[in-house]
Amino acid sequence: MARVYNWQIGREMSYWYPGNRPQRQFAAVFDTNKCIACQTCTLACKTTWTSGKGQEYMLWNNVETKPYGSYPLAWDLNLLKDLNGGKWNGKTYEGQTIFESAAAGERVQSWRPKTEDYSYPNVGEDDCAGAVDYGMSMDLPHMNWFYYLARICNHCTYPACLASCPRGSIYKRQEDGIVLVDQSRCRGYQECVKGCPYKKVYFNPMTGTSEKCIACFPKIEQGIQPQCFVNCIGKIRMAGFINTPDKAQAENPIDYLVHLRKIALPLYPQFGLEPNVYYIPPVHVPPPFLRQMFGPGVDAAIAAYRNSANDPDLAGLLSLFGSSEMLMTKWKRQGETVTGSNDKGQPMVSIPMKEPVFIRPAYDKLYQITRTNCP
Ligand code: SF4
Ligand code: SF4
Repeated sequence: MARVYNWQIGREMSYWYPGNRPQRQFAAVFDTNKCIACQTCTLACKTTWTSGKGQEYMLWNNVETKPYGSYPLAWDLNLLKDLNGGKWNGKTYEGQTIFESAAAGERVQSWRPKTEDYSYPNVGEDDCAGAVDYGMSMDLPHMNWFYYLARICNHCTYPACLASCPRGSIYKRQEDGIVLVDQSRCRGYQECVKGCPYKKVYFNPMTGTSEKCIACFPKIEQGIQPQCFVNCIGKIRMAGFINTPDKAQAENPIDYLVHLRKIALPLYPQFGLEPNVYYIPPVHVPPPFLRQMFGPGVDAAIAAYRNSANDPDLAGLLSLFGSSEMLMTKWKRQGETVTGSNDKGQPMVSIPMKEPVFIRPAYDKLYQITRTNCP
């Protein structure tokens, strides 16, 4: 095992291979407060990449309802139970990662889902965290909660899928950090299916190989965001690239949200993979639940997000989500206008932070009608 630095857990850790950060790391921010679980992202991915034989059960993108939803079944609970919760001391994780808690002879602490664990992709949909008293469902606010968690492969800095593969069939691209399975090398041992704690590698019984989210790399190479991003109805997603915290740049939207404003957090950082999809946590969920899922930065992230209406830069950048299909690797606010630009600094989109409101008279003289939704 080599020693590598994982900034998300604030310390060095053991990993099967020596550290080898790519020139650029693909990353994304998802705003959980805006997801409506319409599953358009799921279908956009399904129809693009996994409509073939042997791929029927694969959801490279899935959306589950927390706290009870999970695909495959109990993907996170199983590992959390084994890691015994984990301990944080401030921003440093003092428990063991899945690489450090692996049994002798194993590269990663892991478990393999059974076939039936993939049977119910939307199990627990809209189930809330506890019982709602009789009649209280009509009365707001009631004291229970749920939220939607959209998930893709995290294109981790220290991928457990890659570490687990005995054939060396999984690789991380130097140019963008996207993690791929070399289909010509894979022999279907499924160690990656077992090793990925997020369960984002799937075995294809028709080809006998493992497959996973490819971050729509043919689109990324052309400066376009992936399918599940551009089709997102709730406009919850922004794709881009992330630097390490010491090299964070304010003009980079992902760096700004993750490193500078710290409102977007990794999913289960205690697993130790340095995952690169970052979540703005849901503001209505009890912080203890969120802390075990997104780490110790939850309270500050929620406070910053709640204050975003008084924070023009943050509000401006949040309004760029879903505003263009192009990758926006730079951003800038000038007055009431926010602009997203590409690597060369060419503007991709400019949007007003406030849109004008027009109130029409109830009676429309042109069409000689009265609109029924007017007072
Ligand atoms: S398309 Fe967007 S809003 Fe709809 S489920 Fe997916 S992430 Fe959520
Ligand atoms: S989320 Fe899983 S499949 Fe994706 S890179 Fe990380 S370990 Fe590999």
